[in-house]
Amino acid sequence: MANRKRIGILGGTFDPVHIGHLRGALEVAEFMGLDELRLIPSARPPHRETPQVGAQDRLAMVRQAVAELAPLTVDDRELKRDKPSYSIDTLESLRGELAAEDQLFLILGWDAFCGLPAWHRWDELLQHCHILVLQRPDAGSEASEPLRDLMAARNVADPLALKGPAGQISFIWQTPLAVSATQIRSLLANGRSARFLVPDAVLAYINAHGLYRG
Ligand code: ATP
Repeated sequence: MANRKRIGILGGTFDPVHIGHLRGALEVAEFMGLDELRLIPSARPPHRETPQVGAQDRLAMVRQAVAELAPLTVDDRELKRDKPSYSIDTLESLRGELAAEDQLFLILGWDAFCGLPAWHRWDELLQHCHILVLQRPDAGSEASEPLRDLMAARNVADPLALKGPAGQISFIWQTPLAVSATQIRSLLANGRSARFLVPDAVLAYINAHGLYRG
């Protein structure tokens, strides 16, 4: 199993990408010893409003953010698809490119995890990946019964003990940075600074393209 790869994926609208995403992703990647953690910007998120900024700008900002930030990378496959961005499609497509024994970790915040039963073909997700839930002390959502059943069947206490290419769930306790894209859009729309909330290269891109102005 020496050549088995460990790959994490973090989907999002990244409207814009910020230090909460990046610091969180880096911490998970280091803690889990991932070979790669791919940020996957979504084109038309099925569960939320249309992003304020176009796909190509959001992708360009993620590219700026992860440049020279190995093991963080960007994966643009959801933007190349002309269908809604369902995670199951992304996972199937990723799996088609990996060796059977490679481990795939889908990273979700607790709130996103609680919404899982509403996802397209949600009961098939664990056939392709493990799920790592970022637990946060201030989590407001509650797991529904189908999700509690799934956790009872698939939960592994130690994330570093997840075995095989897919099929289990584990929780990572992480100190979250209280930063959201919503907050950043609002600051910029009001003519305030977003310095230190996004990487300087992302801020330069935002300014150069006049994004998020009120
Ligand atoms: P918005 O404010 O527009 O809802 P967001 O800041 O939550 O956006 P998303 O692109 O929706 O960003 O997030 C993508 C992923 O990153 C989600 O799984 C989300 O839980 C996670 N995430 C967002 N903000 C943080 C943060 N501050 N710390 C850790 N993870 C975060």
